[in-house]
Amino acid sequence: MNKALDLKTLETLEIDTSFINTLPGDPILENYTRQVPKACYSHVQPEAFPKASLIACSKEMALQLGLKPEECESELFTRVFSGTELLENMQPYSCCYGGHQFGNWAGQLGDGRAINLGDVNAPDGQQWTLQLKGSGPTPYSRSADGLAVLRSSVREYLCSEAMHHLGIPTTRALCLIATGESVVRDMFYDGHPKKEPGAVVCRVSPTFTRFGSFEILTARKETDILRSLANYTIKKDFPHLPGSDNPGKATYLDWFHDVCLKTADMVIHWMRVGFVHGVMNTDNMSIAGLTIDYGPYGWLENYDPDWTPNTTDAEGRRYRFGNQPMIALWNLVQFANAIYPLVEDAEPLEDILKEYQTYYEKGWLDMMRGKLGLEKNNSEDEALCLELIQTFSLTETDMTLFFRHLCEMEKSQASESIIEVVRPAFYSDELPDNARNGMVTWGQKYLDRLQQENRPDHLRSEAMNGVNPLYVLRNYLAQQAIDKSEQGDHFMIHELQEVLKKPYTLQDGKEHLAGKRPEWARTRAGCSMLSCSS
Ligand code: AMP
Ligand code: MG
Repeated sequence: MNKALDLKTLETLEIDTSFINTLPGDPILENYTRQVPKACYSHVQPEAFPKASLIACSKEMALQLGLKPEECESELFTRVFSGTELLENMQPYSCCYGGHQFGNWAGQLGDGRAINLGDVNAPDGQQWTLQLKGSGPTPYSRSADGLAVLRSSVREYLCSEAMHHLGIPTTRALCLIATGESVVRDMFYDGHPKKEPGAVVCRVSPTFTRFGSFEILTARKETDILRSLANYTIKKDFPHLPGSDNPGKATYLDWFHDVCLKTADMVIHWMRVGFVHGVMNTDNMSIAGLTIDYGPYGWLENYDPDWTPNTTDAEGRRYRFGNQPMIALWNLVQFANAIYPLVEDAEPLEDILKEYQTYYEKGWLDMMRGKLGLEKNNSEDEALCLELIQTFSLTETDMTLFFRHLCEMEKSQASESIIEVVRPAFYSDELPDNARNGMVTWGQKYLDRLQQENRPDHLRSEAMNGVNPLYVLRNYLAQQAIDKSEQGDHFMIHELQEVLKKPYTLQDGKEHLAGKRPEWARTRAGCSMLSCSS
C-alpha cells in the first residue's frame, strides 16, 4: 500500500480518548485553581488566541503522526494547535500530579499550563498524545497564568526536536505558534516584570505521565487509582512486560526495573552530549525515560561537572551536570516509594535500585569508550576516562569540540600532537603549562590504549563522529534565535531546526553554528544563566 495515500488531513485525523475514558476524572468542570483529589485529570478548555500565527513546525513529526505535512501550512492547523479551535472528538484535559521539588515534597502540582488534546493512533502503531503548553490556566495553575513566553517556547521547541535527532529519548514538538498576545514575566524574580511575547508549543509524546503522577496518588492514599494508573501505563507503554494485561506483584517489579533502566539510559545520553536538564524534580521525570519539560536546561560548553544553567539552583547546584545520575537515582527512590502499595515488599525494590547503579556505571563507561573510539574493554579504561575529565579542569575545554576533534588523532602520531588536534576546543589561546602537560600525558595514555585496538584510524574516526555530535543547541545560539524571533525574524529558528536534524554531519556553510561560545555570551542572561521563569 502506498503510505502517502494513507496520510490524514486534520479533519480525518482520528483522536483517541482512552486516557480519560479509562481513568477517573475530576467531576468539576469549572476552571478555577483547586486541589483535585481522587482523579488523574480535569476537563479544561484551552484559551482562544485569535491572532495566533505559526512560527515553525516539524514536518517529520507531522508525518510520524500520519498527518499530511502540507496540513501544517493551513489556517486550521494554527487554530487547532494554538488551542483556538478543537477538532471533532478532542476532549481536552490537564493531568493531576505531584512532585518533589529540589528535594522537598511539594504536594499537588499538575499541568498548570499544559492541556492535552487527545491521542493519535499513528500509522506505525504508536499512540501519541498531543499536548499544548502555554494555552491558558487550568485547575492546576496555582497562582500562575497558564501561559508561556516566546523565549522558553523557542527553547523547548528547538531542543526537544534536536534531542530526538541526536538519538536521545525525548518528548517531541509538532509546532511553535506565537499567540499574538503578551505575557508579563519577571525574568530574574528581581522586581522587574515586563511584557514579553506569548507562544504555545504543541508537544507530542507516547506519554506525559511522570513519577509525580504516581506520587500524588500514594500521598493521598488513593491506592485504587494508583493501581488503575499503573495498570493503564503498563498496558499502553510497557506491553512487552509479562502480565502487562493483568499486572500483579511480579509485573510491577518488572515495570520498576524497566523504568530504572530507561532512566539510566536517558541520563547516559545526557552525559554523552553534555546536556544539563536543570530541574530534575520528580514531576519532570517521565515514566517512559524520556527527556521532558525543557526549562532552564543548558549544554556544557567548557567541560565542568559542577555547572548548572539554572540560577534558581545556583546555590545548592543540586541539578548540576555531574550530579544528574545520582539525582535520577534519588528520583527513582521516590518513585519506588510511590508504587510501594502495589508491591508491599521493600527488598526487591531496593535490589532493583542497586542494579540501577551498576547498570549506570557500566553504561557510562561503554558510552565513554564510544566517545573515545575504543572497541575493546580494558580494565584501565575507567581510569583513562576519569583522568581526561581531571585534565579538562586545567583549562577551559569545549566538550563538544574536544570529542569531535579527537577523532583526528592517528595511532602513529606523537603524544604532543594532541594539542594541535584538539586546539579548537581550548577557550584560551595560550595554554597554561600544567594544562598542556596534562593533556600531553593523557594523550600518551590514549595513544598507548589505541595501540591495543585493531580498527584502522579512519574507521575509528567515522565511529566517533557517529556518537560525538558537531552541532548542539548551544545556549548562546538558542538565545540569538530568540532575540531575532522577538523582533519578528524567525530565520534562525528555522536554520537551527534544519541543521540540528543532522547533528553528526558536517554541513557546508554552517560553521557559525558549530563554534565555541563567544566571550560576550559568558555572562549574558539566557546564554549562561537561566531562571525557571518561563
Ligand atoms: P516546571 O518548573 O516548569 O516543571 O513547573 C512546575 C509546576 O508549575 C508545574 O505544575 C507547572 O505546570 C506549573 N507552572 C509553571 N509555569 C506555570 C505557569 N505560567 N502557569 C501555570 N502553571 C505553571
Ligand atoms: Mg514541569
